[in-house]
Amino acid sequence: MRIDGQCHCGFVTYEAEIDPDDVAICHCTDCQQLTGSAYRVTAGTARENFHLTGGEPKLYVKTAQNGRKRLQFFCPNCGSPVYTTGTDADAEEVGIRLGTINQRRALAPKAQIWRSSALPWIHDIETLPGHDRD
Ligand SMILES: [Zn+2]
Ligand SMILES: [Zn+2]
Repeated sequence: MRIDGQCHCGFVTYEAEIDPDDVAICHCTDCQQLTGSAYRVTAGTARENFHLTGGEPKLYVKTAQNGRKRLQFFCPNCGSPVYTTGTDADAEEVGIRLGTINQRRALAPKAQIWRSSALPWIHDIETLPGHDRD
């Protein structure tokens, strides 16, 4: 599936080819902090299928307790997380942050990881009182 996207301010833009079945939620505590939100949704693809088409993103390197490095790319202007990749063999894979993908409404997650650190209320939001707009 052909997709494109951008950060909130439009400085960082990209195009990619992805598999709509390779979309997953991550509930790990790093993703909670790095997104400032409850969980992260990512669309994975091979590095060769992902092409930046705009400004250069800024890099933050996250080092896990096991020493594994994750390269977190975000917009230097607006701070939106745009994509991630890794080192060594992991450098061949890119994880695109779903909220920046223009076609995201069509990309329902197919899996979730790190359920052990999922926020306990995550499955209860459907029953909250709500409004179609703010
Ligand atoms: Zn931006
Ligand atoms: Zn995570």
